[in-house]
Parts: sequence; C-alpha cells; structure tokens
Amino acid sequence: MPHVVIIGAGVAGASAAATLADAGWRVTLVDKAARPGGRCATRRLAADTASPWFDYGAQYFTARDPAFRQAIASDLDAGALCHWRPMLHVAEHGDAGWRRTPSPDERERLISPRGLNDWIRYRLDQTTADIECRRRVSAVARTTQGWQLQFADDAASQNADALIVTLPAVQAAGLLGELADDMPELAAADSALSPCHSLVVAAPALADCHGIFVKGGHLAWCADNTHKAGHGEAATHLWTLHAGPAFSTDHLEDDPQTIATMLIEEFAALGGLATARIKPVHQHRWRYARPGAKPPPADTRCLARPELRLALAGDWLAGGRIEGAWLSGRAAADALR
Ligand SMILES: Cc1cc2nc3c(=O)[nH]c(=O)nc-3n(C[C@H](O)[C@H](O)[C@H](O)COP(=O)(O)OP(=O)(O)OC[C@H]3O[C@@H](n4cnc5c(N)ncnc54)[C@H](O)[C@@H]3O)c2cc1C
Repeated sequence: MPHVVIIGAGVAGASAAATLADAGWRVTLVDKAARPGGRCATRRLAADTASPWFDYGAQYFTARDPAFRQAIASDLDAGALCHWRPMLHVAEHGDAGWRRTPSPDERERLISPRGLNDWIRYRLDQTTADIECRRRVSAVARTTQGWQLQFADDAASQNADALIVTLPAVQAAGLLGELADDMPELAAADSALSPCHSLVVAAPALADCHGIFVKGGHLAWCADNTHKAGHGEAATHLWTLHAGPAFSTDHLEDDPQTIATMLIEEFAALGGLATARIKPVHQHRWRYARPGAKPPPADTRCLARPELRLALAGDWLAGGRIEGAWLSGRAAADALR
C-alpha cells in the first residue's frame, strides 16, 4: 500500500489521515508544533490535568454536512464531544455606551468536555497514523518515486509516495515553490485567512451570559470557558476574548501588552466589570485565523493533482471552519485514492 506524508496535524490533516489509514495506506503526519491540533488549541492554567482549561483558538463547531455528522456520532457517544448550550448575548456600541441583548442564535454548538485540542488527539488515537511533532517541513521536492521532504533543524529527509499539504494558502505556496505556479487557485487565495489576536483572562462570571458576539468594537467574540467545562459555579471564570479581523490586521505587529490593555478595557466596558477584576492569563496572535477579505468558494474543498500524487487541503478551501477543514481533508484523501 502507498505511503502518504501529511503536512499539518490539524483538523484537515487528522481527517485525511483517518480516511487513508482506514483504506489501508501507511500514513505519517508531521507537524511543526509540540502537539497535534493546529488551531484547535487548548491549554490548562497549570500542568496538572485537573487544572482549568481554555480554548484559545477555535471555540465550538457546527456539523451540518451529513458525512461529518456521521463521522462525529461515535465521538459524541464516547464523550469526546458534547453539546454546548450557552446563553449568548450580542453587544453593540451606541451613544450611551455598550448595550448587551440576548442573541436569538440557537444553532447546535459542539465542543469537547476537555477542550477542542483533546478531541483532535482523541481522533488521531483512533487511527494507525504515525504522528511526528516538532518537525517543521522546510522544503518539498518531486522525485522519480514520489516526494521528498526536508526539515528545519533535521538533516534527515523523508520520502513518500504521496503528499497532502494542509497549511494555510500562503504557507503552502511557500513550501511548494515553483510547483505552486501550476496552481493559480493557490496564488489567488493569499488573503483567504485573516489574523486574530486572542487573549484569555480570569474574570468574574457574567449573569446569564456565557458568550458575547461583539459588533463594532475591537473584540468580535468573548466565551466563558468555565461554563463550557461545566463549572459555572466557580468564583473565577476563564474568558477567551477574540479581537475582530479589522482590529487584528491593523494591530498585527503591536506590542502584546498594548493589545491586552485595549481588549481588557473593552471587555470590562461591555461586561460592566472593573478592569482591576480582569487578569490576563494567556495571549496568542494567530496570523492565519479565520476567513479573510477574499475567501475562496466554500465548495472548492481541496486542490488535487492526482497525477503528481499531491493534494492540498485546509479550512481556507472550504469555508474557514472546523467542519470545512474536516471535509477538505477527506476530499484530499479521496482525490488521492
Ligand atoms: C481564534 C480562532 C477562532 C476560531 N473559531 C472557530 C470556531 O468557533 N468554530 C470553527 O468552526 N472554527 C473556528 N476557527 C477556525 C478553525 O480553527 C479552523 O478552521 C480549523 O482548525 C483549521 O484546521 P486546518 O487543519 O485546516 O488548519 P490548522 O489547524 O491551521 O492546521 C495546520 C497545521 O500545520 C502545521 N504546520 C504549519 N506549517 C508547518 C510546516 N512548515 N511543517 C509542519 N507543520 C506545519 C501547524 O502547526 C498546524 O498544526 C477559529 C480559528 C481561530 C484561529
């Protein structure tokens, strides 16, 4: 059976890996990060596994596509996923300051009871794929047999019969070099994902409010991780604050402390809290986060060159969300099969 190397162990990589491993392929996943998951990123306050967790990348996901619903049904049964039923507010800024009103949005929201990163690791544990972390791919080249990968900080190369690249468009293009010239869709997608400043703070709970869609502010979204974890009664809650795409783009290179101060002040204002009660606990800048100014059509799914045994996948090809990333990874695997 052929050997495929998949670059990137996020949702798209995990989905492609499961599809090809189930078909009997030998699968190797390589990722530059210390652990798999990509933008399904979760941390704990302390190393202790009982310590409170927070999602600082993706927050929850929808499952509308029948194939995706079927794929996650067993994860729900196993308790690796659960439903999140928050009370959500919309915050808007007017002449009298911030005003919060209940959101009518009642869509189905899926989370993991231990954070979304835990779900990806659970999914990968179900496959026979080899997972190699802390391996940043620095170059890929065609060989007579298939593909050869080079790594930063590692002289040993890796050969494969087939290659799946699940990086955001700009990074994928950089890796493929001249091969990318053959893929006009790749060059056209340079702004498919926009950045996001993410700040996690310890703050009080808000009455009857577990998440806030923010309109017209620096922030776009605030989520109460402590409510997600089922500990609503706790004295201190961990809130994830995500800045909007315009703010994140305009302040991409700003000093993290300045960003944190601005986001905390806005969260204090829309939550009716004193800033002294809000303490930052984690900060991250996502350079490629969510759909940007020119997202590609949601039905592209993947870019495949079966004659080269090459496929590109990732959320940027399928709507910029977890569900799209999963469908994209599966489409890439199917294209190679
Ligand atoms: C702040 C934020 C909030 C979000 N909120 C939501 C939400 O609420 N709901 C939702 O559905 N989606 C949300 N998303 C989007 C969702 O996280 C993504 O759609 C999805 O996780 C993308 O998966 P992916 O596999 O396509 O990419 P990624 O998760 O980015 O995976 C790519 C992987 O490639 C690795 N990599 C990169 N370069 C190299 C290299 N050179 N060598 C080796 N490995 C490399 C990276 O480490 C990464 O693990 C959010 C994203 C962010 C950042």
